Amino acid sequence: MKKVYIIDDDSQIVEILTQFVEMLGFEVMSYTSAVKFFVDYPEDERNITIMLDLNMPEMDGIEVIRQLAERGSHASLLLISGYDTSVLHSAEKLAHAHNLKIINSLTKPISFSLLESIFDEIGRSEEPQFVDRGEVHLPLQLSEFRDALVQNQLTLHYQPQVNIQTRALVGVEALVRWQHPQRGLVFPNHIIPMAEEFGLMGDLTAQVINKAVNQSYQWQQMGLNIPVSVNISAENITSLTFPEQLTDLLKRSQFDPSMLTLEVTESELMGDLKTSLDILTRLRMKGVDLSIDDFGTGYSSLSQLHRIPFTELKIDRSFVMDMSGDGDAMAIVKTCIMLGHELKMKIVAEGVESEHVLNQLNELGCDIAQGYYIARPMSADKLVKWIKVWEEEQLQGVATGSA
Ligand code: C2E
Ligand code: MG
Ligand code: MG
Repeated sequence: MKKVYIIDDDSQIVEILTQFVEMLGFEVMSYTSAVKFFVDYPEDERNITIMLDLNMPEMDGIEVIRQLAERGSHASLLLISGYDTSVLHSAEKLAHAHNLKIINSLTKPISFSLLESIFDEIGRSEEPQFVDRGEVHLPLQLSEFRDALVQNQLTLHYQPQVNIQTRALVGVEALVRWQHPQRGLVFPNHIIPMAEEFGLMGDLTAQVINKAVNQSYQWQQMGLNIPVSVNISAENITSLTFPEQLTDLLKRSQFDPSMLTLEVTESELMGDLKTSLDILTRLRMKGVDLSIDDFGTGYSSLSQLHRIPFTELKIDRSFVMDMSGDGDAMAIVKTCIMLGHELKMKIVAEGVESEHVLNQLNELGCDIAQGYYIARPMSADKLVKWIKVWEEEQLQGVATGSA
């Protein structure tokens, strides 16, 4: 039987849609929260249909689209919105940009006759619904995650960041991975929502910072000076003791705070601004750098940006990835670079996937690039080898005049 996932925060709508779609002969999985959906969603499901409400409080439909794209999802989407059609249109554009298939977009109240004809079409398509690669598909459990923290199953992968003009390595971003004994490597899009739901983000961040600091210290012992960036979460910037805990750790590890950058996403600043301002200012005073991550996707106002002592602005990868073919994305990238420079911040473009984009960013005066074109995130060991190869390539490039 073909599978349909329904995600809408309105439980009444979910109930009505579930009954209706089941009546049409589909197997339905329904969720009133996108976070729960991602905890359940199996990695390798193909050609499934997701009915997705765009307007949800916890994780909205746009975020869901982004996460699906990051997982290389093959799902077809049926978008639903209570907003006007322009919002649906933008969401469609975004989904297309991420190579996701949109079956249709519906405004509320939903027309059931239209829905019936859409599902009739879906029912007739012959493609297989599920590719089973023999992996375990059970939802991740709290006990497993606790084990992961205790048994040291979390590891970090590091993604290089290079100076756009000189192509020299200027740092790495540490990205968490979970080496699960049965399921293999689990990515942050599963780990983070789960840690948040179970209230374990504080523990996760502490482990990540610890590992990143130790690793950077080990690189220093090898003669490699590699500053490291770590993502922190909303929970950290509401914990008033976080700055002291961090400085204790840095002192214990004899680690120079200026070698550490903490990345905070715009959306995490949405909570209690006074507390986060207090904590972020104290962190900055203790000498760590602060970066505003995924810039352009959240809602931070100019005054917020100005008040919090950020040293770096990371332009969200969705804009960088689209900038060569999409005039709007290009305008956003340009504006972020100008704004960040006016506020004396370094600008990092993430999601650089081609030489062409790297050159365009260079012309726009962007400082630092991170992305698959330069390198994918990799283990600490691989990074050391990668640096050698990269540096040789740059030298050869200079020698032949092509860098
Ligand atoms: P982020 O901080 O924006 O990290 C960059 C993400 O973009 C990484 O995904 C990276 O693999 C991906 N990426 C880098 N270059 C490219 C590119 O050229 N093209 C594309 N398509 N993607 C690229 P990853 O590792 O799956 O992490 C996803 C997000 O999970 C991170 O986004 C960050 O917000 C969060 N995260 C990762 N590790 C941690 C952690 O230790 N703590 C917290 N709180 N969040 C974390
Ligand atoms: Mg980041
Ligand atoms: Mg980012």
